Amino acid sequence: MSDLPGTQASYWIESTSRDPIGSAPAQRTVDVAVIGAGMVGLTAADLLKKAGSTVAVIEMHGVAEGVSGYTTAKISAGQGTRYSSLTSKYDEETARAYAASNTAALEYLAALVEAEGVDCEFARKDNYVFAASDEEVSSVEREAEAAAAAGLATELVSTTPLPFDVPLALRQRNQAQFHPRKYLLHLARNIDGDGSFILENTRATGVSDGSPCRIETTDGDVTARDVIVATQLPFLDRGLFFARAHPYREHVVTVRVPGSAVPDGMFISAGSPTRSVRSTPYGDGALLIVSGEKHKTGAELRTDECYRRLQEWAEQHFEVLGHEYRWSAQDYYPVDALPYIGKLNRMTQHLYTATGFAAWGMTNGTLAAMLLSDAILGRENPWASLYDSNRINPIRSATAFVKENVKVAGHFVGDRLSKEGADSTDDLAPGEAAVVGGGGTPVAAYRDPGGLLHAVSARCTHMGCLVKWNHGERSWDCPCHGSRFAPDGTVLNGPAARPLESQDVGG
Ligand SMILES: Cc1cc2nc3c(=O)[nH]c(=O)nc-3n(C[C@H](O)[C@H](O)[C@H](O)COP(=O)(O)OP(=O)(O)OC[C@H]3O[C@@H](n4cnc5c(N)ncnc54)[C@H](O)[C@@H]3O)c2cc1C
Repeated sequence: MSDLPGTQASYWIESTSRDPIGSAPAQRTVDVAVIGAGMVGLTAADLLKKAGSTVAVIEMHGVAEGVSGYTTAKISAGQGTRYSSLTSKYDEETARAYAASNTAALEYLAALVEAEGVDCEFARKDNYVFAASDEEVSSVEREAEAAAAAGLATELVSTTPLPFDVPLALRQRNQAQFHPRKYLLHLARNIDGDGSFILENTRATGVSDGSPCRIETTDGDVTARDVIVATQLPFLDRGLFFARAHPYREHVVTVRVPGSAVPDGMFISAGSPTRSVRSTPYGDGALLIVSGEKHKTGAELRTDECYRRLQEWAEQHFEVLGHEYRWSAQDYYPVDALPYIGKLNRMTQHLYTATGFAAWGMTNGTLAAMLLSDAILGRENPWASLYDSNRINPIRSATAFVKENVKVAGHFVGDRLSKEGADSTDDLAPGEAAVVGGGGTPVAAYRDPGGLLHAVSARCTHMGCLVKWNHGERSWDCPCHGSRFAPDGTVLNGPAARPLESQDVGG
């Protein structure tokens, strides 16, 4: 990993302030508590405060340091080959509702930026879905037809602003991009004050449903009438979302290019391996943000090779002046292809959630916040039933449900039977990691470059699967539901809400 050029960090986070937002008040009773300060949580809290509610946002890291700080931040209702897939899984009417609701979210966000003068590099851009080879031409044609039928103005084009030829592309005009953390910090500042507050570096560890609800955190309790669990996959298992949405990780590299070589637009290939490209202003020129190499979390162990393949692709296709940042993140993919937005389960009156944006959460996350705030404020929303988090779509979800959950079941069983990794921590050289002692208590051991051994339990604290070492990011990743942990066991990604326990294995 160390021989990769560039810095392992999110450009969005590195280029913005990490100063704390506000300070925690003594009075911790609010109308609505929001767990998670990402696109969903901050947008919902901002909407609710504007409607007169007091809100508390509880975030285990800093504001917008979850996937919303590691996204590529295209704000687009055109989303790869989404409409051909929705039309074949559902029908044209569903695809139309999806297009209309995602467009409404894009326009809400654009109007907020305009009205509040948000300095977040918001820019209107055309969205292109291109065929990277002749084999992908039919996918582009199908998508153009389905997107147009869904109501999105879509045209087929034979040339694009990319500096290389493509056999065919579709274009959707007037979509957008922005700097996501600048935007979300603006929302966070809106939220803080007048009885509303943000608790950063505070992990929610439990929620009791009632009147009022009580949220237990690592820094005391918060009491609220309603609670939005906006933690990507809910860390509470009550809605069984872990069986209905599955984590896939994607990798991002950024390269510096001359201003004259910046392709004007946002681009994504129609086939596999997917390559997504956009630019952002950077010094005298621009950074090109290239992403792809998607895989199930915990399934690809040499994630450093994912970065390498993306960097090589960038060098082959653009005039690269240098490699800058690289990062990775994950999003959750629903088994029936639509996000889950609504009540946490059928029984609750006061707990809400949103997940399953399939790497299109700038519009879908904004839409989720609009739907959830409407539900809490007792307002009708025309799209509430489409995204209902407790819907049952047995036919639409059957194949994906079985496929994904068979993989998870395989880990549950296999992890308990197999012996994996090194025989003892003595075998580990600096920079190496392994799960040791598969027969007894499995230990996740990592020897850092300085020779210090970090040993923690290898059983994920969410549901007990064995974690796997992620070489590129130096983390322990759970292949079952996507929880991730630092070498010292700290939770990096939920749904796990507790760290991996430290283990004493000697040197
Ligand atoms: C590589 C990549 C590129 C992407 N590019 C795009 C794109 O171009 N356009 C697009 O529309 N979408 C994109 N997406 C998807 C989009 O980034 C996400 O769907 C969206 O950011 C999700 O927002 P969120 O608020 O649900 O999650 P998050 O931003 O992750 O917010 C959830 C927050 O909850 C916190 N949390 C978790 N558990 C707890 C707990 N127990 N207590 C307290 N806090 C907790 C986390 O720390 C986190 O900050 C991309 C995704 C990936 C992975």
